[in-house]
Amino acid sequence: MELGVKRQEHIVPSYSLTGDLLSYLRCRLQYRYHNRSSLPPSRPVQLWFGEFLHGTLEMAYRHWSERQAEFGVPPAFPWPCNPRKWLEREPNWEAHDIGKIANAIENSLRQRGIQARSSDARDSAYRRAEIAVNKLGPHLFPLIEAAERKVIGTRPVAPSDAELRCDNYEVHGVIDVLTHVTLSQARDDNLIRQCVQQACPDLQGTYEVIVDYKGARRPRCDEKYWNQDNWQIQTYAWLREHQPDSLPVAAGILIYLNELLPGSLEIKSLKQGIASKTTDIIPAPSSRDAQIVRLWRPGMNIEQLSLTYRLRRAIRIVQVSEQSIAKALNEFDDVVRRTEIDILEETNGRNILKAWSPTCDDPATCAACDFRHFCPKPARGYKQHEEDIL
Ligand code: SF4
Repeated sequence: MELGVKRQEHIVPSYSLTGDLLSYLRCRLQYRYHNRSSLPPSRPVQLWFGEFLHGTLEMAYRHWSERQAEFGVPPAFPWPCNPRKWLEREPNWEAHDIGKIANAIENSLRQRGIQARSSDARDSAYRRAEIAVNKLGPHLFPLIEAAERKVIGTRPVAPSDAELRCDNYEVHGVIDVLTHVTLSQARDDNLIRQCVQQACPDLQGTYEVIVDYKGARRPRCDEKYWNQDNWQIQTYAWLREHQPDSLPVAAGILIYLNELLPGSLEIKSLKQGIASKTTDIIPAPSSRDAQIVRLWRPGMNIEQLSLTYRLRRAIRIVQVSEQSIAKALNEFDDVVRRTEIDILEETNGRNILKAWSPTCDDPATCAACDFRHFCPKPARGYKQHEEDIL
Protein backbone atom coordinates (compact mmCIF):
# COMPACT_ATOMS: atom_id res chain seq x y z
CA MET A 1 0.00 0.00 0.00
CA GLU A 2 1.30 3.38 -0.87
CA LEU A 3 1.35 5.82 2.01
CA GLY A 4 0.40 9.39 1.21
CA VAL A 5 2.67 12.28 2.12
CA LYS A 6 1.73 13.66 5.52
CA ARG A 7 -0.19 16.86 5.07
CA GLN A 8 1.21 19.95 6.72
CA GLU A 9 -0.30 20.50 10.14
CA HIS A 10 -3.06 23.10 10.06
CA ILE A 11 -2.72 25.33 13.07
CA VAL A 12 -5.18 27.95 14.28
CA PRO A 13 -3.46 29.41 17.35
CA SER A 14 -5.59 30.80 20.12
CA TYR A 15 -4.96 34.33 21.42
CA SER A 16 -6.57 35.91 24.43
CA LEU A 17 -7.32 39.58 23.91
CA THR A 18 -5.93 40.71 27.25
CA GLY A 19 -3.65 37.79 28.18
CA ASP A 20 -1.85 37.67 24.84
CA LEU A 21 -2.47 40.62 22.53
CA LEU A 22 -2.40 43.41 25.10
CA SER A 23 0.40 41.69 27.04
CA TYR A 24 2.50 41.51 23.87
CA LEU A 25 1.90 45.21 23.29
CA ARG A 26 2.95 45.99 26.87
CA CYS A 27 6.30 44.26 26.38
CA ARG A 28 7.12 41.39 24.10
CA LEU A 29 10.03 40.02 26.18
CA GLN A 30 7.92 39.97 29.34
CA TYR A 31 5.12 38.35 27.32
CA ARG A 32 7.54 35.67 26.07
CA TYR A 33 8.62 34.67 29.56
CA HIS A 34 5.28 34.93 31.34
CA ASN A 35 2.88 33.70 28.68
CA ARG A 36 4.86 31.40 26.44
CA SER A 37 7.02 29.84 29.17
CA SER A 38 4.19 29.90 31.73
CA LEU A 39 6.53 31.47 34.29
CA PRO A 40 4.24 32.94 36.96
CA PRO A 41 5.20 36.40 38.25
CA SER A 42 7.20 36.07 41.49
CA ARG A 43 5.32 38.92 43.17
CA PRO A 44 2.00 39.19 41.40
CA VAL A 45 1.14 42.52 43.05
CA GLN A 46 -0.45 44.17 40.04
CA LEU A 47 -2.38 40.98 39.34
CA TRP A 48 -3.75 41.10 42.91
CA PHE A 49 -5.12 44.61 42.59
CA GLY A 50 -6.91 44.03 39.27
CA GLU A 51 -8.34 40.65 40.24
CA PHE A 52 -9.39 41.89 43.68
CA LEU A 53 -11.40 44.79 42.25
CA HIS A 54 -12.91 42.76 39.38
CA GLY A 55 -13.90 39.97 41.76
CA THR A 56 -15.40 42.31 44.37
CA LEU A 57 -17.46 44.21 41.81
CA GLU A 58 -18.73 41.02 40.22
CA MET A 59 -19.67 39.45 43.55
CA ALA A 60 -21.35 42.66 44.72
CA TYR A 61 -23.45 42.69 41.53
CA ARG A 62 -24.40 39.02 41.97
CA HIS A 63 -25.48 39.73 45.53
CA TRP A 64 -27.50 42.75 44.39
CA SER A 65 -29.26 40.78 41.64
CA GLU A 66 -30.01 37.73 43.84
CA ARG A 67 -31.58 39.95 46.48
CA GLN A 68 -33.55 41.75 43.79
CA ALA A 69 -34.84 38.42 42.43
CA GLU A 70 -35.64 37.04 45.89
CA PHE A 71 -37.22 40.04 47.62
CA GLY A 72 -38.10 42.27 44.67
CA VAL A 73 -35.86 44.98 46.05
CA PRO A 74 -32.06 45.00 46.39
CA PRO A 75 -30.23 46.30 49.50
CA ALA A 76 -30.26 50.12 49.44
CA PHE A 77 -27.01 51.97 48.79
CA PRO A 78 -24.68 52.92 50.39
CA TRP A 79 -23.64 49.49 51.58
CA PRO A 80 -21.48 49.28 54.73
CA CYS A 81 -17.80 48.46 54.39
CA ASN A 82 -15.85 46.90 57.26
CA PRO A 83 -12.52 45.88 55.78
CA ARG A 84 -11.36 43.66 58.62
CA LYS A 85 -10.71 39.96 58.60
CA TRP A 86 -14.14 38.32 58.75
CA LEU A 87 -14.60 35.28 60.92
CA GLU A 88 -16.40 32.30 59.54
CA ARG A 89 -19.44 32.69 61.81
CA GLU A 90 -19.61 36.41 62.30
CA PRO A 91 -22.58 37.55 64.39
CA ASN A 92 -24.55 40.57 63.24
CA TRP A 93 -22.93 40.84 59.84
CA GLU A 94 -24.82 42.16 56.92
CA ALA A 95 -24.53 39.96 53.87
CA HIS A 96 -23.98 42.97 51.64
CA ASP A 97 -21.10 44.42 53.68
CA ILE A 98 -18.52 45.32 51.01
CA GLY A 99 -15.76 44.38 53.46
CA LYS A 100 -17.17 40.87 53.73
CA ILE A 101 -17.56 40.50 49.97
CA ALA A 102 -14.04 41.82 49.37
CA ASN A 103 -12.66 39.61 52.11
CA ALA A 104 -14.03 36.50 50.38
CA ILE A 105 -12.28 37.58 47.15
CA GLU A 106 -9.06 38.32 49.03
CA ASN A 107 -9.13 34.84 50.61
CA SER A 108 -9.64 33.11 47.29
CA LEU A 109 -6.74 35.08 45.78
CA ARG A 110 -4.55 34.19 48.77
CA GLN A 111 -5.22 30.51 48.14
CA ARG A 112 -3.82 31.00 44.64
CA GLY A 113 -0.70 32.65 46.10
CA ILE A 114 -1.78 36.14 45.04
CA GLN A 115 -1.51 38.77 47.78
CA ALA A 116 -1.42 42.54 48.23
CA ARG A 117 2.10 43.96 48.37
CA SER A 118 1.49 45.84 51.64
CA SER A 119 -1.23 46.74 54.13
CA ASP A 120 -1.37 50.25 52.58
CA ALA A 121 -2.04 48.75 49.15
CA ARG A 122 -4.72 46.50 50.66
CA ASP A 123 -6.40 49.43 52.44
CA SER A 124 -6.45 51.52 49.32
CA ALA A 125 -7.92 48.63 47.29
CA TYR A 126 -10.70 48.18 49.87
CA ARG A 127 -11.49 51.90 49.78
CA ARG A 128 -11.58 51.90 45.97
CA ALA A 129 -13.86 48.86 46.03
CA GLU A 130 -16.19 50.64 48.46
CA ILE A 131 -16.44 53.75 46.26
CA ALA A 132 -16.89 51.64 43.12
CA VAL A 133 -19.77 49.66 44.61
CA ASN A 134 -21.48 52.55 46.39
CA LYS A 135 -21.05 55.28 43.78
CA LEU A 136 -21.09 53.34 40.49
CA GLY A 137 -23.25 50.39 41.58
CA PRO A 138 -26.54 52.35 41.82
CA HIS A 139 -26.11 53.48 38.20
CA LEU A 140 -24.53 50.37 36.73
CA PHE A 141 -26.15 47.37 38.46
CA PRO A 142 -29.74 48.05 37.29
CA LEU A 143 -28.56 48.11 33.67
CA ILE A 144 -26.50 44.91 33.71
CA GLU A 145 -27.71 42.20 31.37
CA ALA A 146 -24.78 39.82 31.87
CA ALA A 147 -21.56 39.78 33.86
CA GLU A 148 -18.44 37.98 32.62
CA ARG A 149 -19.68 37.17 29.09
CA LYS A 150 -17.25 35.01 27.05
CA VAL A 151 -16.73 35.99 23.43
CA ILE A 152 -14.75 34.22 20.71
CA GLY A 153 -14.08 34.57 16.97
CA THR A 154 -11.57 33.87 14.22
CA ARG A 155 -9.59 36.34 12.18
CA PRO A 156 -7.05 36.19 9.36
CA VAL A 157 -3.44 36.89 10.34
CA ALA A 158 -2.14 40.05 8.62
CA PRO A 159 -0.12 39.28 5.44
CA SER A 160 3.56 38.54 5.97
CA ASP A 161 6.65 37.75 3.83
CA ALA A 162 7.71 35.16 6.43
CA GLU A 163 6.38 31.60 6.22
CA LEU A 164 4.11 31.62 9.23
CA ARG A 165 2.58 28.47 10.69
CA CYS A 166 -1.01 29.79 10.32
CA ASP A 167 -3.30 31.91 8.15
CA ASN A 168 -6.00 32.40 10.78
CA TYR A 169 -6.10 32.80 14.50
CA GLU A 170 -8.71 32.50 17.21
CA VAL A 171 -9.30 35.49 19.46
CA HIS A 172 -11.20 35.23 22.70
CA GLY A 173 -11.97 37.31 25.76
CA VAL A 174 -14.34 37.94 28.62
CA ILE A 175 -16.48 41.07 28.70
CA ASP A 176 -16.71 42.28 32.31
CA VAL A 177 -20.23 43.64 32.00
CA LEU A 178 -22.83 43.85 29.25
CA THR A 179 -25.55 46.38 29.78
CA HIS A 180 -28.83 46.84 27.97
CA VAL A 181 -29.74 50.47 27.87
CA THR A 182 -33.23 51.51 26.84
CA LEU A 183 -33.21 55.26 26.72
CA SER A 184 -36.85 55.61 27.65
CA GLN A 185 -36.50 53.24 30.62
CA ALA A 186 -33.22 54.24 32.27
CA ARG A 187 -33.68 57.04 34.80
CA ASP A 188 -32.70 60.56 33.73
CA ASP A 189 -30.16 60.81 36.55
CA ASN A 190 -28.48 57.53 35.60
CA LEU A 191 -24.80 58.40 35.17
CA ILE A 192 -24.20 55.68 32.56
CA ARG A 193 -27.15 56.83 30.45
CA GLN A 194 -25.99 60.46 30.72
CA CYS A 195 -22.40 59.61 29.73
CA VAL A 196 -23.49 57.51 26.73
CA GLN A 197 -26.00 60.12 25.56
CA GLN A 198 -23.40 62.83 25.81
CA ALA A 199 -20.96 60.86 23.67
CA CYS A 200 -23.59 59.53 21.23
CA PRO A 201 -26.39 62.15 21.10
CA ASP A 202 -28.25 60.55 18.14
CA LEU A 203 -28.91 57.18 19.79
CA GLN A 204 -32.47 55.87 19.87
CA GLY A 205 -34.07 52.70 21.21
CA THR A 206 -32.34 49.82 22.95
CA TYR A 207 -28.69 49.04 22.57
CA GLU A 208 -25.80 47.41 24.36
CA VAL A 209 -22.93 49.06 26.13
CA ILE A 210 -19.81 47.08 26.94
CA VAL A 211 -18.21 47.90 30.29
CA ASP A 212 -14.63 47.06 31.15
CA TYR A 213 -13.10 47.64 34.59
CA LYS A 214 -9.46 48.69 34.65
CA GLY A 215 -7.44 48.39 37.84
CA ALA A 216 -5.36 51.31 36.60
CA ARG A 217 -5.22 55.08 36.32
CA ARG A 218 -6.67 56.92 33.32
CA PRO A 219 -3.90 56.94 30.70
CA ARG A 220 -2.85 60.18 29.05
CA CYS A 221 -3.71 60.49 25.36
CA ASP A 222 -0.01 60.26 24.41
CA GLU A 223 0.43 56.90 26.16
CA LYS A 224 0.09 53.70 24.18
CA TYR A 225 -2.48 52.35 26.66
CA TRP A 226 -4.92 55.08 25.55
CA ASN A 227 -5.34 53.54 22.10
CA GLN A 228 -4.94 49.95 23.25
CA ASP A 229 -7.85 50.24 25.72
CA ASN A 230 -9.96 51.61 22.87
CA TRP A 231 -8.98 48.73 20.55
CA GLN A 232 -9.96 46.26 23.25
CA ILE A 233 -13.50 47.68 23.44
CA GLN A 234 -13.82 47.75 19.62
CA THR A 235 -12.75 44.11 19.38
CA TYR A 236 -15.19 43.09 22.12
CA ALA A 237 -17.92 44.92 20.15
CA TRP A 238 -17.03 42.98 16.99
CA LEU A 239 -17.00 39.65 18.85
CA ARG A 240 -20.23 40.46 20.65
CA GLU A 241 -22.08 41.49 17.48
CA HIS A 242 -21.45 37.99 16.08
CA GLN A 243 -23.33 36.35 18.95
CA PRO A 244 -26.97 35.45 18.20
CA ASP A 245 -28.57 37.25 21.18
CA SER A 246 -26.75 40.55 20.70
CA LEU A 247 -28.19 44.03 20.22
CA PRO A 248 -26.32 46.80 18.40
CA VAL A 249 -23.30 47.82 20.48
CA ALA A 250 -23.46 51.59 20.78
CA ALA A 251 -20.45 52.28 22.94
CA GLY A 252 -17.99 50.99 25.46
CA ILE A 253 -17.28 52.31 28.92
CA LEU A 254 -13.85 51.96 30.44
CA ILE A 255 -13.82 52.44 34.19
CA TYR A 256 -10.40 53.37 35.53
CA LEU A 257 -10.92 52.32 39.13
CA ASN A 258 -7.77 53.98 40.51
CA GLU A 259 -9.24 57.39 39.68
CA LEU A 260 -12.04 56.82 42.21
CA LEU A 261 -9.43 57.35 44.90
CA PRO A 262 -6.33 58.80 43.25
CA GLY A 263 -2.91 58.27 44.84
CA SER A 264 0.46 59.88 44.05
CA LEU A 265 0.87 58.07 40.72
CA GLU A 266 -2.55 59.23 39.50
CA ILE A 267 -2.06 62.88 40.55
CA LYS A 268 1.46 62.95 39.12
CA SER A 269 0.16 61.69 35.79
CA LEU A 270 -2.72 64.18 35.87
CA LYS A 271 -0.33 67.10 36.50
CA GLN A 272 1.87 65.88 33.66
CA GLY A 273 -1.18 65.59 31.39
CA ILE A 274 -2.37 69.11 32.24
CA ALA A 275 1.11 70.59 31.64
CA SER A 276 1.53 68.83 28.29
CA LYS A 277 -2.18 69.10 27.31
CA THR A 278 -2.35 65.33 26.93
CA THR A 279 -5.20 64.54 29.28
CA ASP A 280 -8.82 65.04 28.37
CA ILE A 281 -10.58 65.53 31.71
CA ILE A 282 -9.08 68.53 33.48
CA PRO A 283 -10.51 70.39 36.46
CA ALA A 284 -12.28 73.73 35.83
CA PRO A 285 -9.57 76.46 36.07
CA SER A 286 -10.76 78.23 39.22
CA SER A 287 -12.19 75.18 41.01
CA ARG A 288 -10.98 73.72 44.28
CA ASP A 289 -9.98 70.56 42.36
CA ALA A 290 -7.68 72.66 40.14
CA GLN A 291 -6.10 74.20 43.22
CA ILE A 292 -5.50 70.80 44.87
CA VAL A 293 -3.80 69.49 41.73
CA ARG A 294 -1.74 72.65 41.26
CA LEU A 295 -0.42 72.68 44.84
CA TRP A 296 0.34 68.95 45.05
CA ARG A 297 4.03 67.97 45.17
CA PRO A 298 5.54 64.45 45.33
CA GLY A 299 5.60 63.20 48.92
CA MET A 300 2.61 65.34 49.99
CA ASN A 301 -0.56 63.82 51.37
CA ILE A 302 -3.32 64.00 48.84
CA GLU A 303 -6.25 66.18 49.70
CA GLN A 304 -9.29 64.53 48.20
CA LEU A 305 -10.65 65.76 44.89
CA SER A 306 -14.44 66.16 44.55
CA LEU A 307 -16.40 62.97 43.87
CA THR A 308 -17.92 64.48 40.72
CA TYR A 309 -14.47 65.09 39.28
CA ARG A 310 -13.16 61.67 40.34
CA LEU A 311 -16.10 59.96 38.64
CA ARG A 312 -15.51 61.98 35.46
CA ARG A 313 -11.84 60.89 35.48
CA ALA A 314 -12.82 57.26 36.14
CA ILE A 315 -15.37 56.94 33.31
CA ARG A 316 -14.24 56.97 29.70
CA ILE A 317 -16.76 56.50 26.91
CA VAL A 318 -15.51 54.88 23.72
CA GLN A 319 -17.67 55.31 20.63
CA VAL A 320 -18.10 52.24 18.45
CA SER A 321 -18.56 52.37 14.68
CA GLU A 322 -17.78 50.13 11.71
CA GLN A 323 -14.65 52.16 10.98
CA SER A 324 -13.34 52.13 14.55
CA ILE A 325 -13.93 48.36 14.79
CA ALA A 326 -12.11 47.75 11.48
CA LYS A 327 -9.13 49.82 12.62
CA ALA A 328 -8.84 47.97 15.93
CA LEU A 329 -9.13 44.55 14.25
CA ASN A 330 -6.37 45.48 11.79
CA GLU A 331 -4.13 46.50 14.69
CA PHE A 332 -4.65 43.18 16.48
CA ASP A 333 -4.28 41.14 13.24
CA ASP A 334 -0.90 42.79 12.91
CA VAL A 335 0.03 42.05 16.54
CA VAL A 336 -0.62 38.36 15.80
CA ARG A 337 1.55 38.59 12.66
CA ARG A 338 4.41 40.08 14.71
CA THR A 339 4.00 37.48 17.46
CA GLU A 340 4.03 34.67 14.92
CA ILE A 341 7.22 36.07 13.35
CA ASP A 342 8.88 36.13 16.80
CA ILE A 343 7.80 32.52 17.38
CA LEU A 344 9.26 31.56 14.00
CA GLU A 345 12.56 33.30 14.72
CA GLU A 346 12.92 31.57 18.08
CA THR A 347 12.03 28.21 16.49
CA ASN A 348 14.79 28.84 13.94
CA GLY A 349 17.32 29.15 16.77
CA ARG A 350 17.50 32.89 17.39
CA ASN A 351 18.36 33.94 20.94
CA ILE A 352 15.21 34.75 22.98
CA LEU A 353 16.47 38.18 24.03
CA LYS A 354 16.92 39.06 20.36
CA ALA A 355 13.88 37.33 18.85
CA TRP A 356 11.64 38.94 21.49
CA SER A 357 13.58 42.13 22.14
CA PRO A 358 11.92 44.19 24.90
CA THR A 359 9.50 46.95 23.96
CA CYS A 360 8.30 48.49 27.22
CA ASP A 361 8.76 52.22 27.78
CA ASP A 362 6.72 52.45 30.98
CA PRO A 363 9.03 52.72 34.02
CA ALA A 364 6.31 51.50 36.43
CA THR A 365 5.84 48.27 34.42
CA CYS A 366 9.61 47.65 34.28
CA ALA A 367 9.98 48.31 38.03
CA ALA A 368 7.53 45.45 38.73
CA CYS A 369 8.99 43.14 36.08
CA ASP A 370 10.80 39.97 37.21
CA PHE A 371 13.17 40.13 34.23
CA ARG A 372 14.46 43.68 34.73
CA HIS A 373 17.84 42.50 36.12
CA PHE A 374 18.89 40.84 32.87
CA CYS A 375 16.65 42.77 30.46
CA PRO A 376 18.83 44.45 27.80
CA LYS A 377 16.61 47.54 27.56
CA PRO A 378 14.37 48.35 30.53
CA ALA A 379 12.51 51.69 30.43
CA ARG A 380 14.55 54.69 31.54
CA GLY A 381 14.02 55.74 35.15
CA TYR A 382 12.41 52.45 36.25
CA LYS A 383 14.58 52.26 39.40
CA GLN A 384 12.89 55.37 40.82
CA HIS A 385 9.58 53.47 40.74
CA GLU A 386 10.83 50.31 42.44
CA GLU A 387 10.04 51.58 45.91
CA ASP A 388 6.47 52.52 44.98
CA ILE A 389 5.78 49.22 43.25
CA LEU A 390 7.50 46.56 45.37
S1 SF4 B 1 12.17 45.17 32.31
FE1 SF4 B 1 10.67 46.28 31.09
S2 SF4 B 1 11.45 46.17 29.00
FE2 SF4 B 1 12.50 44.58 30.19
S3 SF4 B 1 11.30 42.72 29.96
FE3 SF4 B 1 10.55 43.72 31.78
S4 SF4 B 1 8.83 44.98 31.11
FE4 SF4 B 1 10.04 44.44 29.31
